Parts: sequence; structure tokens; C-alpha cells
Amino acid sequence: LLAVEGLTKRYGGLVAAKSIGFTVRAGEIVGLIGPNGSGKSTVMKLIMGLERPNAGSVKLDGTEIAGWPSHKVARAGIGLVFQHSRPLHRQTVLENIKLALLPDSLVRLFANASVESRARAIAERVGLGAVMNRRPGTLPFADLRRMELAKAIARDPKVVLVDEPFAGLTSGEVADFSALIRGFRDEGKAVLLVDHNVKSVSALVDRVFAMYLGERVAEGTAAEVMRNETVRRVYLGGS
Ligand code: ATP
Ligand code: MG
Repeated sequence: LLAVEGLTKRYGGLVAAKSIGFTVRAGEIVGLIGPNGSGKSTVMKLIMGLERPNAGSVKLDGTEIAGWPSHKVARAGIGLVFQHSRPLHRQTVLENIKLALLPDSLVRLFANASVESRARAIAERVGLGAVMNRRPGTLPFADLRRMELAKAIARDPKVVLVDEPFAGLTSGEVADFSALIRGFRDEGKAVLLVDHNVKSVSALVDRVFAMYLGERVAEGTAAEVMRNETVRRVYLGGS
């Protein structure tokens, strides 16, 4: 469903992603793991069209989308859960989700019943049913993360990119978010899940792709990747 090949991004002299290639099939969760600065978010932004690659290909269902602007990528069927939330603080949670459903001006023009009911259903699904009429600034951190999940799946994308969903959450919240992400997979979405640590996603992922300093260092099942020499050295501190 999603096929990335030779994806390369340079920032000045720094190669943030060096000829990265992997695939994610429908109904599969692939983990993209690596320590700080290894290029995980860069890969996500390149796929989403938030950065332009220097080289490489991103195919969605066989269609080349590398270099497309992000609104076209979103329309083609990819949603991104950002590592850092950027809610609109003057709008309610529900309005934030509605805005993700359609471009801004269209929501105002066609604030119709179907947009309203879809946004409500998504808010309920991610566990924001009780707080959807509040403003994001009044919500606990985990609920802000739920809202980001809601925005990313609002348009029912075929591919969901999730950038470090578990950072800053309690173990109960992690279990909750894991269940939501499994739900995306079970309804046939392709999920690319970014995390620092292969251990924390090993129960969730079908396969893992590991990066270090912009390069691919390992690929396989979570167990295989955990046994990899380079992974053990850079992720597990040589233990
Ligand atoms: P983290 O775990 O901290 O989120 P990451 O794996 O997501 O790290 P990236 O954010 O992709 O890493 O960054 C990879 C490298 O590219 C880092 O060295 C970072 O400083 C650099 N980088 C990222 N964005 C830019 C930018 N817009 N301009 C210049 N350098 C950048
Ligand atoms: Mg990142």
C-alpha cells in the first residue's frame, strides 16, 4: 500500500535520511525506530509532503506522490499524527476535528450535519466524547494526543503515520493508545509507528525498520531487530 524507496533528505551538509526504503501493507503495523535525531520524523514529513525529498520515491497504491504538497497527500489517503501537537486553542476539540475533515473555508461554508456527525463519531472513538466541546487548552496532555489521533484519522486515510504516540503517557494511557492503533490496523489501514525504542512497540508491530543517523541499520521482526548488533549498541547502550 505504501512503498518508500531511495528516500533521501539533506539539510545543508547533514543527511537526515539516506536512501531509505520500506513498505507497509494494508492491515499491518510497521515500527520505525531509532534514537534522537536518527531521521524518523524526517521520513514521516517526506511521506506526508511537509518536506520535499532530494531523491527517492513514495508510492501510495502504486501512485507516485513524492514531492506532492501535503494537502494533496492527505486527500490521496495519508494521515499524520504529529510528534508535537498544534491545536487551535480558540476552537473547541470538536471544531479542531471538523477542521481536519475539510479545508478551513469549506467547513465554514458546509458546516453540515454529516461533517458534524462524523467529527462526533471520531471524538467518541478516540475517547474524547465527554470533552469535545471544551477548548484544547483546558485538557490534560493525553487528551491532546487523542485529539491528534482523531485529526489524523478524520478523513479515513488508508495509511496512518504515528510519530511517537506514547511519549509522556502513563502505562494505562499507552495501553489505550495501543488498542486504538491496533484498531486502525484491524480495519485494514497501513500503520507506520515511530518510537525511540523497539521494546516499547514490540507487542504492537508486525515488522520493524530501524534507523540510525539517517541510515537504515536493521529490518525484520521486533525480535530479529532486537538481536541486531548495531541496534543493541545504539539503542540498548551496549547491554
Ligand atoms: P527525535 O527522536 O528526536 O524525534 P528523529 O529521529 O525524529 O528524532 P529528525 O527530527 O528526523 O529525527 O531529525 C533528523 C536530523 O535532521 C537531526 O539531526 C535534526 O537536527 C535534523 N533536522 C530535522 N529537521 C531539520 C530542519 N528543518 N533543518 C535542519 N535540520 C533538520
Ligand atoms: Mg522525531
